[in-house]
Amino acid sequence: MEKKGTILMQRYELGRLLGQGTFAKVYHARNLKSGQSVAIKIIDKEKVLRGGLIDQIKREISVMRLVRHPNVVQLYEVMASKTKIYFAMEFVKGGELFNKVARGKLKEDAARKYFQQLIGAVDYCHSRGVYHRDIKPENLLLDEFGNLKISDFGLSALAESRRQDGLLHTTCGTPAYVAPEVINKKGYDGAKADIWSSGVVLFVLLAGYLPFNEQNLMEMYKKITRGEFKCPQWFPPEARKLLSRILNPCPFTRINMATLMENSWFKKGFKANVAAPKPLQIKGDVSSISDVEVALDEGSSVSNSSIESGRPPTRTNSFNAFDIISLSQGFDLSGLFENDMNERPPTRFTTTKPASTIVSKFEEIAEMERFKVMKKDGMVKLQGSKQGRKGQLGIDAEIFEVTPSFFVVEVKKTAGDTLEYKQFYNKDMKPCLKDIVWAWEGNEQQQQQQQQQQPQPPQPQLQIHNR
Ligand code: AMP
Repeated sequence: MEKKGTILMQRYELGRLLGQGTFAKVYHARNLKSGQSVAIKIIDKEKVLRGGLIDQIKREISVMRLVRHPNVVQLYEVMASKTKIYFAMEFVKGGELFNKVARGKLKEDAARKYFQQLIGAVDYCHSRGVYHRDIKPENLLLDEFGNLKISDFGLSALAESRRQDGLLHTTCGTPAYVAPEVINKKGYDGAKADIWSSGVVLFVLLAGYLPFNEQNLMEMYKKITRGEFKCPQWFPPEARKLLSRILNPCPFTRINMATLMENSWFKKGFKANVAAPKPLQIKGDVSSISDVEVALDEGSSVSNSSIESGRPPTRTNSFNAFDIISLSQGFDLSGLFENDMNERPPTRFTTTKPASTIVSKFEEIAEMERFKVMKKDGMVKLQGSKQGRKGQLGIDAEIFEVTPSFFVVEVKKTAGDTLEYKQFYNKDMKPCLKDIVWAWEGNEQQQQQQQQQQPQPPQPQLQIHNR
C-alpha cells in the first residue's frame, strides 16, 4: 500500500485512499505545481502485461487521453514505475451514485436525468471507438453539482486482461450488470453490451434493487441469459417498455443507441451535453501525450528509485501514429492543435516524406509563384510578391514531427485576401503538394484509398517533435 505523503514523479503528493476497485487502488492526490486535486489509480504493471491485451489497452487509453466529455472522468496523465502504472484522473467529489440509491429508489425524473447523462457519455465514447464493457455502480460517480461522471472508460480492457490471466475470475464481482453474450464468452459487440449494462443501471435507479439478483450464481446466469426480470408496479409504462427493449438477451435485436436516444421516455427534457473538446496543447505539453506508450511499454523501466528520489523518469516522447490517425473519424486533428476561433481553420495533411522533402516542396511552390521563402523552427513562411486586394499573401506551413518518418503539416493564411488565398491554394499549391501528401485532414475516403495503395506508416515507438 502506498504511503500518504509519497511524491509521485515529482508531480503529485499522495493523499488518502479513496477506494479500491477490482483491479486497482485509487488515492486522492495533489498536483504539486498547481495544487489541483486529482485521483490517482494505481495498477500492478505485471498483471497488465501478462494479460496480452497491451495493444488494445494502449489504443483505448490513448484515445481516452484525447476525448473530453462532461460526464466522463477525465484522464489527465499516465505514468509508470518499474512495477506500477499510475493514472492521474479528474477527482470527483460527490461519491458513488449508488450511495444515493442505497437510501432508496429515485424519482422518475431524477433516474431519467442520470440515465440520460450515462447514455450521452456512453454514446460519445462509442463514437470515438471506445467501449466501456464494465459499466457498474462503482464506476458511476457524482460531482459536486450532482452530475454523473463515468470512470474507467477505456480502462476496462485492463480489467479484462486480468480476467484473462486466469487468476482473478472470482474477484471480478457480480455479473449483475453484465450482458448475457459477455457472460457466455461469445464474441460480442461492445456497444450492445454497454447498452445492456446501462439498462440494468436504469432499473436499479428506478427500483432501488437489481433486476437479476439470485443467491445462486447459476440461477442468476440463467435469468440473465433468458432476460428474465420483473418490473415493479410503480415503473412508468414507457420506462417498462424501454427496459424490455434494452434488457433483451439477444444482442442483435436489442435496441441500438440511435433508437434508444429517440425513445420518447428517454428524450423527455434531454439536453445533449455536447462535449467541447479543449484543444490539447501538443506544442507545450508533449510529454504527457506520450505517456501511454511509455507506461505500458514492457521494456519501460522507470525505476522506483527515481520516484522516491524525485528524479524525473527517463521518457521517450513516443506516441503511436495509429493513435493519431484513429483519434477521430474523418481524420480530424483539430483537437491536437490550438486553434484561434477567430481565424480560418488551417488545412492539415500527413506525410511520410522526410522534413527536407516537405521543405523543398514548399520552396518549389514558392519559386513557381515567385514567393519569398523563410525557414525557421520547423516553419516555412511564404510571402507573395504581388500586391493583392488586401496586400501580399502570407502563408505559413508548420511541420510537426509525429515520428521520425511521419509528419503533420499545417498550412494557413497569415496575410492577404482570403479569396485570393483560396484560389492560389486550390489551383497551385494543393496539386503541387499531392506528391508528398499521405492523407488530407477530413478526407476519409481519400485516406482510405491511400491506405490501400501505400504501406502503413510505421507504428511503434514514434517520436513527437518537441519544440
Ligand atoms: P474503481 O477502480 O474505478 O472502481 O475505483 C474504486 C473506487 O475509488 C470508486 O468506487 C470510487 O469510490 C473511487 N474513485 C475512483 N475514481 C475516482 C475519481 N476519479 N474521483 C474520486 N473517487 C474515485
